[in-house]
Amino acid sequence: MDAASDHLLKNFRLRSTPSRQEILHLFLKSKHALSHGDIEKEIDASLDRVTVYRTLKTFLDRGLIHKVLDDEGSLKYALCNATCGTTGHHHDHVHFKCVRCGQTNCLDVEIPPVKLPKGYSPSEINLLIQGTCERCAN
Ligand SMILES: [Zn+2]
Ligand SMILES: [Zn+2]
Ligand SMILES: [Zn+2]
Repeated sequence: MDAASDHLLKNFRLRSTPSRQEILHLFLKSKHALSHGDIEKEIDASLDRVTVYRTLKTFLDRGLIHKVLDDEGSLKYALCNATCGTTGHHHDHVHFKCVRCGQTNCLDVEIPPVKLPKGYSPSEINLLIQGTCERCAN
């Protein structure tokens, strides 16, 4: 049993199940965003696609993880910070994709305000910057 993920599940008032624990543990230990495929590769083969999908959906709805849009339109997920919850997600930070290692990271950098034309109101904002990450630069 993993204490950190168990604690987090409790904080978000989610029942602790083996699949939730395992997937959350994966997010906690990886420093970068994970795609559905990444998760399936890492977890126990006994968890099927539907379980993974449902668990991710639950985590998204509860504010444990958020979506990270990739350049190829593929979807990745990353852990939220403490400000998110069932009331919604409260962060608009920059995502950075490294062209060398291919990993996408959440950066602690806020997306600068974007002025939209009259009549447009944003409901979600995504900013993906591509380049070389800290690890690959060294
Ligand atoms: Zn969030
Ligand atoms: Zn890199
Ligand atoms: Zn993020």
